[in-house]
Amino acid sequence: MSADCIFCKIVAGYIPSKTIFQDDEVIAFHDIRPLAKVHFLIVPKAHIETLKDCTAEHQALLGKMMLLAAQLAAEQGLTGYKTVMNVGREGGQEVFHIHLHVFGGGPAA
Ligand code: AMP
Ligand code: ZN
Repeated sequence: MSADCIFCKIVAGYIPSKTIFQDDEVIAFHDIRPLAKVHFLIVPKAHIETLKDCTAEHQALLGKMMLLAAQLAAEQGLTGYKTVMNVGREGGQEVFHIHLHVFGGGPAA
């Protein structure tokens, strides 16, 4: 856990979230500022700052996040969707704890 990381605080339960799934490795919750009708994030519980910090030891975790995107998107009623991971400041990343965005259902109302 990183003390000043908002997603670590969500993982620890210090900040509430609209959680749709969690197990011992990952948590998924709705984005607080949705850019689509359905917009949720899949977040590893371990603090990893960016995809650039990932190595072969994270391969299974990253694959799990992608498969979970498909499973949770289906559970949210989506038949098509986008998955995005922003990487680094120049890649649009604002929260430096890796997360996979899932967008679907058209633009947010
Ligand atoms: P990124 O630009 O890829 O780092 O995306 C960070 C995302 O985290 C943004 O879409 C934010 O709206 C979202 N976000 C920030 N704080 C929270 C929070 N407390 N609960 C849910 N989503 C959040
Ligand atoms: Zn963190």
